Amino acid sequence: MKTIIEPFKIKSIEPIKFTTQAEREEVLQRAFYNPFLIPADDVLIDLLTDSGTSAMSAKQWAGIMDGDESYAGSRSFFRFEKAVRGLTGLKYIIPTHQGRAAEKILFSIVGGPGKYIPNNTHFDTTRANVEFTGAEAVDLLIEDGKKPDLIADFKGNMDIQALESFIEKRGAENIPLCMITITNNSGGGQPVSMANIRETKALLRKYSIPLFLDACRFAENAFFIKKREPGYANKSIVEIAREMFSYADGCTMSAKKDALVNMGGFLALNDAELATKARNILIVTEGFPTYGGLAGRDLEAIAQGLEEIVDEHYLTYRIRSVEYLGEKLIKANVPIVRPPGGHAIYLDAKRFASHLSPEQYPGQAIVCELYRLGGIRTVEIGSVMFGRYDKSTHTLIPAAMELVRLAIPRRVYTQSHIDYVAEVVLEVYANRNTLKGLVITEEAPMLRHFTAKFRVL
Ligand SMILES: *Cc1c(COP(=O)(O)O)cnc(C)c1O
Repeated sequence: MKTIIEPFKIKSIEPIKFTTQAEREEVLQRAFYNPFLIPADDVLIDLLTDSGTSAMSAKQWAGIMDGDESYAGSRSFFRFEKAVRGLTGLKYIIPTHQGRAAEKILFSIVGGPGKYIPNNTHFDTTRANVEFTGAEAVDLLIEDGKKPDLIADFKGNMDIQALESFIEKRGAENIPLCMITITNNSGGGQPVSMANIRETKALLRKYSIPLFLDACRFAENAFFIKKREPGYANKSIVEIAREMFSYADGCTMSAKKDALVNMGGFLALNDAELATKARNILIVTEGFPTYGGLAGRDLEAIAQGLEEIVDEHYLTYRIRSVEYLGEKLIKANVPIVRPPGGHAIYLDAKRFASHLSPEQYPGQAIVCELYRLGGIRTVEIGSVMFGRYDKSTHTLIPAAMELVRLAIPRRVYTQSHIDYVAEVVLEVYANRNTLKGLVITEEAPMLRHFTAKFRVL
């Protein structure tokens, strides 16, 4: 087979700034060793997130000019609504300024003290929005999904037996809805199988609990189903997406991922009463239901992006470009979550920096070194992001996994950028014994990773 190439050519470019190692050391100090506090201009290759960092197509930019900015009943809204409904089959389509706004609206209606929201793995903003209402966010990922070096096709699957026991224990009346995150971002970008979505829905139906998809990466998930699940090889991505959504009663989506835009999101659902409640909140917090926190041009770009994301040439290149980086690291024995996920490579920091304990935040140490050595910005997804404190002993309850995510922005970097990234990771790995742990000196009560300050031990 020939090399899988980028299915586009470059029309407009953005220079990146080179810095010296000495300059980066200073930047790190000023940023208190938190990559979120580093000015983007001081970053060479930015793998902090694949969220809102996509390169838009010429047609999306044309849509930006063509957007209808009418306050009510904008033409761009109807195009957006049609695109979302066409993919999801869901009835009520509510635009929000990003994914977390959809979460905030949904959980402020169904959440509250005494309620439980199960998920394969809650993303950080989803968990925060559930917990903010006083409800409890529960992760019920299959055991295989927690083993970074175990190779399996669908490591994002929900543990259906655990879900059933959980429902029995807590009572269906206390579970207003169940979510499945496709792909499982916090668990390595691993996909969820169609069978698992179908079986989860069948179980929930018995208890009359609605199923919502956290659909940020629905197209990448659909592509994995096509490639890996029996019976789907000859189905189109749109057909697979429609089947996934056919088991859902609603979804939240950050358009900053698989809608290829820099800002946007939506909540979509079938329950008329819930939709009315959501729109009432939307008007107070986001905007009128036909724009909901977005400009008409944003809605236009999302509609176009949703058409482009289901292109198989695009998805083949997308999944291959992540796998390509993964292969290079695996060949050099760098411990990563296997197999590579859809949007990112996750370094297994526990094995990478095995001399550091979770209290020394091994993932954060690797993040800092990748920046210091190569100007590459990444993010820790481990005990900095998900660690809790035991209130009685004031000790850290570590996260299940200590990962460093190298998220690949969509359509932004070329193969030589990725080759460079692999070279830097290999160099950090070769010198891993010199990695130093960190302590947190300042943190916020929620989503602490965004603003926490660190000191090197
Ligand atoms: C990004 C993301 C969100 C939140 O979306 P925002 O647009 O960043 O608010 C929720 N869930 C998952 C799985 C995500 O990746």
